[in-house]
Amino acid sequence: MVKSLMAEINNKRQRRVQRLKRLIVIMLIMVFVIPVTISVVLAVQLHGLGKQVSELQTEIASMQIQLEEQKVNAADSQELTEEEASADVQTLENQNVWSEPSRTTPADSGIHKVYLTFDDGPSANTDQILDILDEYGVKATFFVVGKEGYNDQYRRIVEEGHTLGMHSYSHVYRDIYESVEAYGQDLEKLHTYLYELTGVDSRIVRLPGGSSNTVSKDKIQDIIAYLGQQGMTYYDWNVSSGDAASGYVSAQQIADNVLNHVSEHHTSIVLMHDASGKNTTVEALPIILEKILESDNMVLLPITEDTVPIQHVQAQ
Ligand SMILES: [Zn+2]
Repeated sequence: MVKSLMAEINNKRQRRVQRLKRLIVIMLIMVFVIPVTISVVLAVQLHGLGKQVSELQTEIASMQIQLEEQKVNAADSQELTEEEASADVQTLENQNVWSEPSRTTPADSGIHKVYLTFDDGPSANTDQILDILDEYGVKATFFVVGKEGYNDQYRRIVEEGHTLGMHSYSHVYRDIYESVEAYGQDLEKLHTYLYELTGVDSRIVRLPGGSSNTVSKDKIQDIIAYLGQQGMTYYDWNVSSGDAASGYVSAQQIADNVLNHVSEHHTSIVLMHDASGKNTTVEALPIILEKILESDNMVLLPITEDTVPIQHVQAQ
């Protein structure tokens, strides 16, 4: 009787000890294993989120570049209007406002000088254009705008012997043509930007829309006087490649626009664009270069400070 009572008490104690052990194990699990597991899961999730954030950051950066390009493109279509307007002026006034120093020289005598100029860059197309020019050993002129993220392109233009001209920093007509002061501030900003990037003290300018653009009409003489004070020369064009048109212009059309007109002038300053989206300009370039290079009375030159300018509107 006493024995069985003792055995029962022992049994009970053992069961209690086991329960206690189990409790301790459960508590250990709760205190260590669960938090560690949660931490590991959270760490894995955090890593994944970090990756997503950096992917999103890259995406945002590329979207910003695209947005900028679209802005320049929008400015381009604005320029088209100005260029079309200037074409109207040209027809109306029968070239009286166009300065052509060679007008008295018969077009078919002597050497024809051809200056290819590219406006609105740099963009992704600038590299391709530089590669093609390098391949054919030709120097050209780039009238650039101010853009972040294209340091290599600005430097390549200079290092590869082309002329770095100034178009405007913002290319926003309503801002730069608001007043002579606004125009000067924008140009000075671009001048400083280019000087710091490349060491070039550029004196060669192309006004957005050309000097005959209608937006700056009432201030153009003041702007011309300002450029004169700064020792800067503005260059318009007498041959348009037509690549600024808003619709699709084929490479062959661009090449024809250039090639059909360069032989008419003793000196041709050709308007082209190295803005993004102007892909047919890139495709037209080899066609243009080959034709001009195989001719024995045409030379391709970069604009220098000694180049006689073509100016739609001249200082009064
Ligand atoms: Zn432009």
